[in-house]
Amino acid sequence: MALLGASGSIGTQALDVCRQHADRLSVVALSVHASTDMLVRAAREFGVAHVAVTDGAHRDDPILSELPTGCSCSFGHEALTDLVRLDDVDCVLNAVVGFAGIEAGFAALRADKVVTYANKESIVVGGDLLMPLARPGRLIPVDSEHSAIYQCLVGEQRRAPHAIWLTCSGGPFRGMTREQLARVTAADALRHPTWRMGPKITIDSATLMNKGLEVLEASQLFDVGIDDVTVLVHPQSHIHSMVEFADGSVKAQLGPSDMRLPIQYAFSYPERWEPPAPRVDWRTVSDLVFEAPDEETFGCLALAREAGRRGGTLPCAMSAANEVANRAFRENRCGFLDIEACVAHVMERSEVVPVESLGQLVDIDMRSRELAGRFLSRCVR
Ligand code: NDP
Ligand code: MG
Repeated sequence: MALLGASGSIGTQALDVCRQHADRLSVVALSVHASTDMLVRAAREFGVAHVAVTDGAHRDDPILSELPTGCSCSFGHEALTDLVRLDDVDCVLNAVVGFAGIEAGFAALRADKVVTYANKESIVVGGDLLMPLARPGRLIPVDSEHSAIYQCLVGEQRRAPHAIWLTCSGGPFRGMTREQLARVTAADALRHPTWRMGPKITIDSATLMNKGLEVLEASQLFDVGIDDVTVLVHPQSHIHSMVEFADGSVKAQLGPSDMRLPIQYAFSYPERWEPPAPRVDWRTVSDLVFEAPDEETFGCLALAREAGRRGGTLPCAMSAANEVANRAFRENRCGFLDIEACVAHVMERSEVVPVESLGQLVDIDMRSRELAGRFLSRCVR
């Protein structure tokens, strides 16, 4: 295994799975951006042979002298692509956050590795280029909803579903008005009701941009139209998503709200191993509530859907603007509703052309970030 983004929420839970299944999984490579302490601890525990630190500013961290003897350590962004190409790596976990994970995802698929994929942003932005590289069974989703859909499709003859019901907890601000949303803080948003996650996705869950990204992710992964993916608010998060077939029959996947389950499934596919998390006693579950999302109050979902419908390079511009605004909100440089305003501003000014190359996406990502930065600098806090 090569685990990219090993110090994050997904990365550390993947290490838990590797710990539990040490007889089946061998960790040979790890990457972090800046968390060198954690990197050294994990490298020593798992006897890792190769590590990468993508933020070059950490090149001289003294702790790195404590890496296991013989462990190679490389720096900068290119280091990720080198890790995924290693001969002794069969399976890559892409758990980097944001657009920064895109090149490694490409490199891993091109090197014909099994790629277990958490980094949804790169599927949303680069799916038009990535999906044609993915042979059947080589790109396995880790995102819980997409893992659910993948599991529902096993054994079906026609892999493309008729329609998808994508479940959504509703986030911490479900039921609020826009007046209330104008006053929420990053600390309020970081209190997610059902999942413990990294900071970027936690804010995306509060704006519903996470669900918007997931609609586009599902459309790319499962080859369905944007309007064949319906978001369904299900606050209990017991059902992780549902697939509807041509005859109207619906399959759902249920389980504990614990990311170790979809992570492990991606690693074990097509097998199933012992549970990584406590099982649910379904006799104690009385309510399974469903409702439609409030897209007028949570405008990011509608913006993402629009980006998906128009396609081409628009999802790239949208996701870049969202990354910049998401960070600004966490750093108290803009308000909650400015995230949506910033994404709309950048989308309105983006020329939409077909996706042609990674270089083109890197360029659009950069220009959209600049545009978003200028917009946010005018927001008054
Ligand atoms: P975290 O912020 O917790 O972790 C991100 C990881 O990526 C860390 O290891 C971090 O290193 C590394 N990283 C940060 N910036 C860069 C960069 N510029 N280049 C390379 N590596 C970088 O995020 P999550 O684990 O929450 O999320 C990871 C991905 O998984 C996201 O795409 C998210 O949408 C997706 N996902 C997450 C879920 C969750 O439950 N957390 C659920 C479903 C999907 P360092 O610690 O050194 O900064
Ligand atoms: Mg998800």
